[in-house]
Amino acid sequence: MPDAALVLFSAGQDSATCLAWALNRFERVETIGFAYGQRHAIELDQRAPLRREIAALNPRWLERLGDDLVVDLTGYGAIAESALTADRAIEIAATGLPTTFVPGRNLVFLTVAAAHAYRRGAGLLVGGMCEADYSGYPDCRRATLDALQEAIALGVDAPMRIETPLMHLSKAGAWALASELGGDALVNAINEHSHTCYAGDRSQRHDWGYGCGVCPACDLRAKGWRAWRASRI
Ligand code: ZN
Repeated sequence: MPDAALVLFSAGQDSATCLAWALNRFERVETIGFAYGQRHAIELDQRAPLRREIAALNPRWLERLGDDLVVDLTGYGAIAESALTADRAIEIAATGLPTTFVPGRNLVFLTVAAAHAYRRGAGLLVGGMCEADYSGYPDCRRATLDALQEAIALGVDAPMRIETPLMHLSKAGAWALASELGGDALVNAINEHSHTCYAGDRSQRHDWGYGCGVCPACDLRAKGWRAWRASRI
């Protein structure tokens, strides 16, 4: 089905925006997520409420939203141990990359997602990768994804497009896109139900959502939120 998309959905701000973007565009939208031994299961717990709240904003979105699948990739997580999957400090390593970098994560996720999409008759993957704020993650670059898209299409002998609607947006731009797609209701749903914080904190509510407020993920999200709010005044 050419108008069917599979969204890589981690329950973070970016993938929530991607889900709304896909629901706005495609007749059928399914989601996939990965359990890879994250330090905190909170982001997995937030998948269902976030999906439900986003779809409920628009009857057409609700009609279009299909199944969700969580794939167990803890074996991969064990190989790709980083600060996201192990009890290590989040800092910049000697490689110049943050210790949150999980080597090849998007390559693995997209390849697994492509296998599922193929089986489900979807020829389109949607991911929240972003070059502007990519923290130096080499597997978020569009050039990496272009090469992977070609490899997947060759490998399954079928077209498989990787759409990245946030690729050239700043974090403020991602909030602006959410607002454009679903107004304040979508922005509020993302704030209330998405999860970004590396520390797994949902005890503190800020105007930009829940989180510890000090980890790099919270910092990036808060800065983007403030920049977007400032641009609206
Ligand atoms: Zn945090």
